Amino acid sequence: MEADYLGIKGKKALVTGSSRGVGKAIALALAEAGADVAVNYRSSAEEALDVVEEIREMGRDSLAIQADLAYPDQALNLMEKTTERFGELDLLVNNAAYFPTNWVKDISLKEWQKTLDVNLTAVFLCSKFLVNHALENEKKAKILNINSQAAFHGSTTGHAHYAASKGGMWTFTISLAREVADQGINVNGLALGIVETEMVKPLLKKDEEYYLDRIPKNEFAQPEEIADIAVFLLSEKADYITGATLDATGGMLMR
Ligand code: NDP
Repeated sequence: MEADYLGIKGKKALVTGSSRGVGKAIALALAEAGADVAVNYRSSAEEALDVVEEIREMGRDSLAIQADLAYPDQALNLMEKTTERFGELDLLVNNAAYFPTNWVKDISLKEWQKTLDVNLTAVFLCSKFLVNHALENEKKAKILNINSQAAFHGSTTGHAHYAASKGGMWTFTISLAREVADQGINVNGLALGIVETEMVKPLLKKDEEYYLDRIPKNEFAQPEEIADIAVFLLSEKADYITGATLDATGGMLMR
């Protein structure tokens, strides 16, 4: 019989924004640990279906769900479709994010609002749904919010709205964790530095040395190594961790 060291086997998971990048790596790592995983995307349907295929090849259930998390009704629909398919939901990873670049003097209200809608309001809506689902079913659950060093440092290169949304994610994580800690629901964060994905490729192309210099380890992270840390935080091994935001930044963020 296969060992279930992490206590993830048979768990039902949803990873938002998991058609590529960090979300894809977390979805695959969760499946490898034995979870069934719902894959969410906004526009990259083909990539999402490839992730679903990979998960099914591991013998786990998976489906791709299109939902643009800038829209509250689509966020709720995503949660409903996931629970309809799986019957239950144990693990939620709030990973999808909007990362526009602009100095404050040029940020439009629309851009500011969309950043908060995707990076904070959708996190609230999906988390609230999972909490109520877990409470109604008297089940344990875990939420992991993918955060950024920017939540603690603030932005250096034109991402004040993104940094503000991630700062909000941090205090939301703590607040919700405290609220539901004695009900078997863990809420944690994982703050990243620079991970080589599509999101930051344009920045790295422009000034790779500047970003490398900010990382004491002097290297960028790969999505797969971030996924391993995420899986630990979602596992039964991390049952006593709640309200924490773990920094996986190669030393870029030390606090
Ligand atoms: P990517 O841009 O590589 O991937 C983003 C994923 O989110 C895609 O699957 C994308 O799907 C999806 N997505 C984007 N917008 C929406 C939306 N409105 N609704 C639903 N899905 C959406 O990002 P990363 O993997 O780099 O980032 C993942 C997380 O890590 C984010 O929370 C980010 O803030 C955080 N992070 C990343 C860092 C990095 O250096 N990469 C640094 C610090 C934090 P689609 O293609 O269909 O739009």
